[in-house]
Amino acid sequence: MADFQFTLTQVMQVTNAVLKKITSASIFGGVTTDTRKVEEGMLFVALKGEKFDGHDFIAEAAKKGAIGAIVNKDYDVSRLEDVEIDILAVNDTLKAYQDLAKLWRSKFSIPVIGITGSNGKTTTKDLTAAVLSGKWNVLKTQANFNNEIGLPMTLLQLNKSYDVAVVEMGMRGLGQIKLLTDIAKPTIGVITNVGETHMELLGSIENIAKAKSEMAQAIEIDGKVVLNADDEHVAKMHEVTKARPIYFGINHAADVKAFNVKTVGEGKTEFDAFIGENMAHFTLNMLGIHNVYNCLAALAVGYACGLTIEEMQKGLASFKPTAMRFEYKKVGDFNVINDAYNASPMSTKAALSNLAKVTDGRKILVMGDMFELGSVEVKAHEDIAVQAKEAGVSIIVTRGTLTQNTARKAREIGIPEVYECANHEEAVATLKKVLQKDDTVLFKGSHGMHMEKIIELLENEY
Ligand code: ATP
Ligand code: MG
Repeated sequence: MADFQFTLTQVMQVTNAVLKKITSASIFGGVTTDTRKVEEGMLFVALKGEKFDGHDFIAEAAKKGAIGAIVNKDYDVSRLEDVEIDILAVNDTLKAYQDLAKLWRSKFSIPVIGITGSNGKTTTKDLTAAVLSGKWNVLKTQANFNNEIGLPMTLLQLNKSYDVAVVEMGMRGLGQIKLLTDIAKPTIGVITNVGETHMELLGSIENIAKAKSEMAQAIEIDGKVVLNADDEHVAKMHEVTKARPIYFGINHAADVKAFNVKTVGEGKTEFDAFIGENMAHFTLNMLGIHNVYNCLAALAVGYACGLTIEEMQKGLASFKPTAMRFEYKKVGDFNVINDAYNASPMSTKAALSNLAKVTDGRKILVMGDMFELGSVEVKAHEDIAVQAKEAGVSIIVTRGTLTQNTARKAREIGIPEVYECANHEEAVATLKKVLQKDDTVLFKGSHGMHMEKIIELLENEY
């Protein structure tokens, strides 16, 4: 943080703020919206969230060392009469926060990699950061902080020690990726895939593709867009970008193309890949063909940035998978795949087609509801039963109300055993009754279903 400095004038210029109170010749040594992160000399931005209003914490921020606060213009500053802190009022404190992040980012002429797509953003972000770490010091989005608050927060962490930034960009509607790219100004944009997530707001797959293509549109002519050659909606995005497209894939012609994909041992995947003209062998500490795609996207970024194959291999070897994303573990004498971080129709389909490749033992799906699907929610849950049957699943255990559609369909199409459970405990009891040696059990569901808790309860039993 040492090289971070914003003068009061700069802050006022970039945020169009009105100065309500001045206490010192302020030079701010950092910006934060979180009182827990306030350090001496920082500027505190009061954001109004669903649960908390940052305006209620200004005095606390001052106590911890904040020397300035950005507040909404409607805020009654007389409440802060006794607090020694500069006060700047703006129309919209979130916009001010974003403008500060944008200004800060503009001071660094380093590659910034923006990653979006319906599925696999976080995994691809972490893989890309790992690959690039083979050569560079990388700043990346922490966890899943991919929205209009998380992105500025990440960019405000930039300092001279970083050679590159890898940022995740999420969206729920049209125009949101545009907003994020306007702040981060990515030099390389990655689009992982287009699938039915956030259908509630976007309504159709075409609209989702349109929203994701805002990334391709945002990259300047001297930048690059990394596109999935095997995803028809993404592959087409070369039409809307000024930048050079770099393709990754398995089935279609691509600059970075994998073959000989093999699962080795527990939780590892190996493959060969063409990286431009060269060929090399890669080992990934994860399972699932969808993760090979995420890895190819990361390697395509490495390629776009001019890393050598050795640098990429070294970087990738340092990758540690995040919990609950197709995470493999042994519980008792059966196999558990924890993919319970989240679920969308596309990611569930991907998880089931990976499960299909398991050759030993029976295959069991423990499925929780998928949220935010709007008009397709019934069909999407029915489709799971069909895909499960195709994958060779012989037992389905469901949790939730939407998965009643999965259970009904599963019985209709003749999946041998279907159990609808009213709560996690019942799911555990059911599993305990049915589980046999060498079974593989896939856990999947929306984040809010907390399907991972069933695994925890199950582990206590074995
Ligand atoms: P979010 O929208 O929550 O930020 P995300 O796009 O960041 O999600 P990840 O967190 O990387 O995605 O992965 C979430 C789930 O999506 C994983 O558990 C996995 O099942 C699935 N998934 C990951 N990558 C892919 C992919 N390339 N194609 C399909 N499904 C995928
Ligand atoms: Mg994510």
